[in-house]
Amino acid sequence: MAQHFLLSREARSLSLKTIYQNGEEAARDTFKRIRWEATGGEPVCPVCGCVESKAIKNRPTFRCLGCNKQYTATSGTIFASRKMSYTDLLAAICIFVNSVKGISALQLSRDLDCQHKTAFVLCHKLREALAAEIANEALGGEIEIDGAYFGGHIRPANNKANRVDRRRVENQTGKRRVVLALRERAGRTHTFVANSEAEGVAIASAVARNGSVFYADEASHWDALSANLVAHRINHSEAYSYGGGVHTNQVESFFSRLRLMVAGQHHHVSPQYLYQYANHAAWLEDHRRRSNGANAFALLGGALNHPVSPVWKGYWQRNVK
Ligand SMILES: [Zn+2]
Repeated sequence: MAQHFLLSREARSLSLKTIYQNGEEAARDTFKRIRWEATGGEPVCPVCGCVESKAIKNRPTFRCLGCNKQYTATSGTIFASRKMSYTDLLAAICIFVNSVKGISALQLSRDLDCQHKTAFVLCHKLREALAAEIANEALGGEIEIDGAYFGGHIRPANNKANRVDRRRVENQTGKRRVVLALRERAGRTHTFVANSEAEGVAIASAVARNGSVFYADEASHWDALSANLVAHRINHSEAYSYGGGVHTNQVESFFSRLRLMVAGQHHHVSPQYLYQYANHAAWLEDHRRRSNGANAFALLGGALNHPVSPVWKGYWQRNVK
């Protein structure tokens, strides 16, 4: 039997050992090469686009000869105002892509010896950057659709006499949300956070190109899909696949990863940021057969092409906790 790709040497193309052995200057060169790919790593002013600059002595900073502004390889990107070194930032990305079931901010803060707050915001910036890879892309072809509920856990009371029926609306926290996933076969996984799975019907009509073919399970709200779209159904109480491609196994595989991520890493997810974890799991799922170095540099490229995030820039200054 052929060796699984993830067991091969090619799957391990970047390591923390190499990043730290090569040091800060090499890490900075990596950032420059990826940020300014078009000029072969030569700095381009993020303010005026001028390519003439002067390196400032003993600092990783350039001064633009056009507008006189000072900038670095991360100015104007999602990493703007960073305090972490290039080496630590590259190591953080390496750990982040190696963690195939996601990573908690606490775990990353221990790996990097930084504050939990720093790791929390850094992880969320990376999630925002990776989601931008397919934002606004229409879906097409064969698409598997499904939903799964996350969050809003109600802890049962200690004494049986005090326990409530956790299925009843009046006993719920209002924090439970559904993640809807639309997974293209041989394509990408798009996720949406909604209040009920039935909202997936409207989402599917809005984001799928004409001629798309859907695969869904037996849940009755998916009946409405067939009104506007071609939809095949699989009844999971009968079988997981009817053969001939009628199944939703690929979208179930995405949910398996997301469930493991939430249960094993985050433990608790807020409805506010659930979309970030869903996007993260989708990205990991879609790139699971790429080497860790390719994933790290693709993510770094996405982050360096992503503008400053209004959500995550100055997060702790606005949200003092
Ligand atoms: Zn300039």
